[in-house]
Amino acid sequence: MASPLPQILSNLTTAAHTAGRPVPALLAVSKTQPAQAVAALAAQGQRAFGENYVQEALAKMQALQALDLEWHLIGHLQSNKAESVATHFDWVQSVDRPKLVAALARHRPATRGPLNVLIQVNIDDEGSKHGCTPAQVPALAAAVVAEPSLRLRGLMAIPAPWPEASRRREAFVRMRGLFDALAAQHSGIDTLSMGMSSDYAEAIAEGATLVRIGTALFGARPRPA
Ligand SMILES: *Cc1c(COP(=O)(O)O)cnc(C)c1O
Repeated sequence: MASPLPQILSNLTTAAHTAGRPVPALLAVSKTQPAQAVAALAAQGQRAFGENYVQEALAKMQALQALDLEWHLIGHLQSNKAESVATHFDWVQSVDRPKLVAALARHRPATRGPLNVLIQVNIDDEGSKHGCTPAQVPALAAAVVAEPSLRLRGLMAIPAPWPEASRRREAFVRMRGLFDALAAQHSGIDTLSMGMSSDYAEAIAEGATLVRIGTALFGARPRPA
């Protein structure tokens, strides 16, 4: 089967040009996919991979060490896993509470350079979802910025899968507003992570700078996640 990667990259470019926006970065979401699937995509030039489960991710990092890939944690993070994550990941996109900021900062090895951090926002205020409220973003951002071992890069969201395009769009627009406000407050804010396989074109239209795509790149996941 032909790899979907070139087509996805072309779709990202088209969506960005149509919207008059910069072409976003692609994060390949490899949760539940075997290391060989990651290696196959890496052989085509993909460098950044997103994982949800810490133990699963560590095993893949170990297996693929020689490839020198960039790893993003995009799943919920329990504080007791902060040390492993701060040691092995390049980015954490799911920072949503002060306790986690402190734990990641404390455990980031000095030899690795700052850990890139995105604050996860529960933009549709869903009880089932992780993420801070929009009102909590400024204080959490200040906490990240105060830690020399962390580097605040922006925001991440997983909006509710509304059936109506207008409601999905509205969540992306609100995220863009929060992102612009954050960038006005702090330097080095360059990453707005939103958009997945089913809605990345809409997210890019509203200013996503990084999209997280799993199913459209790897096919259906081997087990539900
Ligand atoms: C699984 C996952 C994705 C990718 O979803 P697809 O619909 O397979 O593209 C993106 N972001 C997060 C946070 C995820 O957990």
